[in-house]
Amino acid sequence: MEDTELLQMAIEAKKNAYAPYSHYQVGAAVLTGGKHVYTGVNVENVSFGATNCAERTAVFKAVSEGEKKIIAVAVAGSGDTIPYPCGICRQVLAEFGDQGTRVICSNSNGSYEVHTLGELLPHAFKLR
Ligand SMILES: [Zn+2]
Repeated sequence: MEDTELLQMAIEAKKNAYAPYSHYQVGAAVLTGGKHVYTGVNVENVSFGATNCAERTAVFKAVSEGEKKIIAVAVAGSGDTIPYPCGICRQVLAEFGDQGTRVICSNSNGSYEVHTLGELLPHAFKLR
């Protein structure tokens, strides 16, 4: 699957973001080892700590359907800046991805960058 195709699915998912507090909508789409795509959005909460990012929503959907390998993730934000995954999401992606997992990040203007997870989180926490 092309990066732009996965990104388009993240952009489409962004429409369902629940962001009444930040007004910053994010959509994500993960491509799994099973060649399926799972989308997610940010889901905010009045108790801010209960908020979940779009990337983790998508990963958790994939894992709950039996997928354990993330090949690529696309992230589409509603702002002018490129929305890189936050630290918590990088660690969650590292659980199911690897150093070569592609991370495609797009702002609302359609500009995007492609990085590897290894570039964004070179020293993920591991037990061993
Ligand atoms: Zn996050």
